[in-house]
Amino acid sequence: MNHPSPDQTLKLTFLGTGAAWGLPELSCDCLICRDMRRKREKRERSALLLSGPSTLLLDCGPDIKGQLARHGVDRPDAVLISHEHGDHYLGLDELFAYKRVAPRGTFEPIPVYLTPKSWETISVRFGYLEEMGVISPHLVEPGRWFEAARFNVFPFKTDHGRFASGSVGFLVKTKNVSSRPLRLVYTSDLVDLPEFPAEIKRPDYLVIQAFWLNEPAKNTPRHMSFQRALEFIRRFDPERETFLIHMGDADQVPGDPANAMTKKYEPLDPLRPPSGGKPYPIPRNQAQWQETVERILTDRGLARRVTVAFDGLEVNL
Ligand SMILES: [Zn+2]
Ligand SMILES: [Zn+2]
Repeated sequence: MNHPSPDQTLKLTFLGTGAAWGLPELSCDCLICRDMRRKREKRERSALLLSGPSTLLLDCGPDIKGQLARHGVDRPDAVLISHEHGDHYLGLDELFAYKRVAPRGTFEPIPVYLTPKSWETISVRFGYLEEMGVISPHLVEPGRWFEAARFNVFPFKTDHGRFASGSVGFLVKTKNVSSRPLRLVYTSDLVDLPEFPAEIKRPDYLVIQAFWLNEPAKNTPRHMSFQRALEFIRRFDPERETFLIHMGDADQVPGDPANAMTKKYEPLDPLRPPSGGKPYPIPRNQAQWQETVERILTDRGLARRVTVAFDGLEVNL
């Protein structure tokens, strides 16, 4: 694949937009999964591809082979890994394919950027990929700019609980010479930001997770709900658009017997219209998600563009 010229439009592809086990979930007959099956919708494990002057892969989960194949992606120029949870790195071995097809002796390892804490965990399983010259890990620290695949990248610390102490988000900035650089923030999984450096404020685009619609009474998995994300969207204050990703099925749909499942979380104080009344219905599919998000924004007088991303969504930035 030829690399496009530096001034060509940047394209953001949502390879997958689902939570750790994808949607609909295996063996799950909750009302959300049932509705998605009926509508033939699915959300694979979250991963993004930024393509322009070069191609940058953001996270590399267990669905990555199909995702890259579906979009005809040639060898990515670099990979960013947000944290050491399986749904964000278990696909790294699939990158081996790019070495296997390269003429003997010509392959350069694919640079993979991640924090030392993340690599400490990931290298236990995938250290051989470094030894065999498939990837070259580059350890990065929150708050320190680095360059990856002709993009400038600024990692920032995210709080995603103690089982993901290496967790970071990334601000990715283009190196346009002819026009203003574009800035995109990818937060991946988080419940909070321990610090809010000036660099990440007012990006052009914000990609943030919406694991539930409503904040749960107990947020033990340390994920971001849309209810909570509203506050972060205000804080980041993206100039152009926000995209929601990493959706799960852990909201309780009132009356669903599946609410007894371990994964279903009781809401703390579910989102409802400011005038009061019943909480907003839990969205079960893509159209309902977008509709609900727009209703909530309108009801609160928030004139913001928030798009519920879906698998395969391509956006020219
Ligand atoms: Zn995740
Ligand atoms: Zn995670």
